[in-house]
Amino acid sequence: MTGHTGSCHCGAIELQLHEPPLAVSECNCSICRRIGGLWHYCAVGSLTVTGPAVGYVQGDRTLTNWHCPTCACVTHWTAIDPDYGKVGVNIRMFDPALWQELPRRFVDGASF
Ligand SMILES: [Zn+2]
Repeated sequence: MTGHTGSCHCGAIELQLHEPPLAVSECNCSICRRIGGLWHYCAVGSLTVTGPAVGYVQGDRTLTNWHCPTCACVTHWTAIDPDYGKVGVNIRMFDPALWQELPRRFVDGASF
């Protein structure tokens, strides 16, 4: 399968993205502004994660944010609702050549 490989800083968590990102999203909600993540949203099946990711569920309990227990990089989020069908991958875990020139969408997560 073609795709792109990314990882957390220490390499314990490996991310395989099976599609090219076409745009990236920045969100100003209470957790995203702290993490500083740059998100690519994709179907659940388009992302494969291996490694010992640790989950953190934020207050409103819609998403789990996953991070590496060793180097603390936030790698991706998953929805708690199994029918949601989408995940967000922190595209910063990949080579900047893959994403730094992409259009950036601003998501006003702080307002809802
Ligand atoms: Zn790590």
